[in-house]
Amino acid sequence: MKSEGILMVLSGPSGAGKGTVCRALLEKQPGIHLSISATTRKPRAGEVDGVNYFFVSREKFQRMIDAGELLEWAEIYGNYYGTPLKSVEENLARGEDVLLEIDVQGGLQVKRKFPSAVLVFLLPPSRAALVERLTGRGTDPIEEIQRRLHWANTELKFLFSYDYIVINRKIEEAVATLQSILVAEKCRPQRIKLDESWGITGLKENSW
Ligand code: 5GP
Repeated sequence: MKSEGILMVLSGPSGAGKGTVCRALLEKQPGIHLSISATTRKPRAGEVDGVNYFFVSREKFQRMIDAGELLEWAEIYGNYYGTPLKSVEENLARGEDVLLEIDVQGGLQVKRKFPSAVLVFLLPPSRAALVERLTGRGTDPIEEIQRRLHWANTELKFLFSYDYIVINRKIEEAVATLQSILVAEKCRPQRIKLDESWGITGLKENSW
């Protein structure tokens, strides 16, 4: 009998490298699905509907909230972002792991609804490294960079509500650490389905 999959949330300030780390993890780790969020923000160049996000109108997003279709949602930089619940539940029930790349407001909502979710905060090695990563792209206006830094300070306040902190020094190292977290989490007594011959039952979700 397969145990239920792990719901892993990856958050962290803009510039922490979440996108890159997520993509690298998906390549390395079989059986993990990246949840595709719904958003009201307009697609950027190269972004594809149904691949990067489900791009929806505000009205449609509101309907999704009202119908209880979102596991969590948040307003970020004036746009709405949310995680569709159905595919997350289906993958977990199949014993597959699910990765959510979402902000801290969303991460905390997930933990309330799924206490067994594993919350990981990805951080650059230092504040200077974060500033360097945000300015290094050279494409964003200074006000945008300042806004992101300001939001990063807000997000950092929630660091200790998370289960793990991963410092993103090198992509491969960060990915290996996330894989180790998945391995360790799968060994928790609450998750393991013991062989019936042990005669031990009752260690399930309610024990989180
Ligand atoms: P971007 O617009 O740059 O793709 O994403 C902006 C922020 O929204 C990022 O911090 C990203 O993690 C967050 N985000 C993306 N999808 C979701 C979601 O479904 N829920 C929440 N709460 N945040 C999300």
